[in-house]
Amino acid sequence: MYIAEIFLNDWRNISEINFRPDKAINIFLGRNAQGKTNILEAINFASLLRSRAGKDTELVRWGQTSALIRIKFFKAGISHELAIEIPLERPRRIFLDGNLIRPRELVGKLNSVFFSPEDLFLFKGSPMGRRKFLDAQISQASPIYFMDLLRYNKIVEQRNVLLKKIRDEEVSENELSLWDTQLAFAAEKVLSKRLSSVRKLNSLANDVQQKISAHNENLSVVYDMRGLDSETDIAENFFELLRAKRPNDIRNGSTSVGPHRDDLKFFVNDRELKLYGSQGQLRTVALALKLSELQFLKSETGEYPLLLLDDVMSELDADRREMLLEFLQRENIQTLITATDRAYFPSQMSANVFYVEAGDLVQ
Ligand code: ATP
Ligand code: MG
Repeated sequence: MYIAEIFLNDWRNISEINFRPDKAINIFLGRNAQGKTNILEAINFASLLRSRAGKDTELVRWGQTSALIRIKFFKAGISHELAIEIPLERPRRIFLDGNLIRPRELVGKLNSVFFSPEDLFLFKGSPMGRRKFLDAQISQASPIYFMDLLRYNKIVEQRNVLLKKIRDEEVSENELSLWDTQLAFAAEKVLSKRLSSVRKLNSLANDVQQKISAHNENLSVVYDMRGLDSETDIAENFFELLRAKRPNDIRNGSTSVGPHRDDLKFFVNDRELKLYGSQGQLRTVALALKLSELQFLKSETGEYPLLLLDDVMSELDADRREMLLEFLQRENIQTLITATDRAYFPSQMSANVFYVEAGDLVQ
């Protein structure tokens, strides 16, 4: 899939830009604080409704009342138009091919993989970041998974409300049984998809890691199910576990086990990356994971997603930069890369270059 045209209006520091990226590599050059990341952020927002902002209002250009993102893209050879309006005073609205859609319907439409230096926190940060990383890629490949996940989270939320009421002796403990059955059923769906996806990701990521480390390093990605054994019947097992944790959960007013608490672990040559990884290793593994995410989405959906690379060229050594650019060109992956310097790219490389200056594009 690829983007044919992007229009941004009053988005961040961008008053108005309209451009047509190449189907191959597009480079956005500019000094610091000109709006390079803002452009990629708009695309990431149109893909997963994710941004660096805590609130939508931060996305609207200062002094203006509403931001607009409009993207024309091709998916499976069919042209689509996506529009997202972000007014200061009202909730955002999303239109796909002219029809108003709900935010949850957007995921899986404009697929992308975003890679920025912040991704290095994936390893050292909280489990939530790692769950989000995994959920984003599975959800883009499978809207059904995304719906199952939302449903599961909703049940956890409702069960937690009930746990608090039981603790405060407002309702009887018997009420929990029904919820536990529902929770176990929903958890099983989420877990089985996560387990099979991690198996696939693990083998893809290891292949890439071996290539970039000249076969010196193998990488394994392990799904860490708190307190559950993946070899046994998950739903039944989970139900038992919920019962065992019940007194504790009632005391805390929250559900202590399940997919919402699980984690991912990464090992290089059987050593846990979080504990032993060097800076360079963290970067290499992050790159291997992003490239395997591209391949994962290609094998699940039949097409590569877009690749957004924010400021990562400066983080990689010359060999890795070259390997990455070669791979992207060979595989024909539409890529938008930001950088402060043309020197990060081989001079003979053919690429579409845009210059970003004070929120504007000069070609
Ligand atoms: P760097 O090379 O430092 O990463 P960049 O070109 O990626 O720079 P951006 O992160 O895109 O820079 O941000 C550009 C500018 O946009 C920043 O100076 C920031 O203050 C400004 N900005 C952010 N949000 C808004 C907004 N809502 N309205 C106006 N300007 C904003
Ligand atoms: Mg930036």
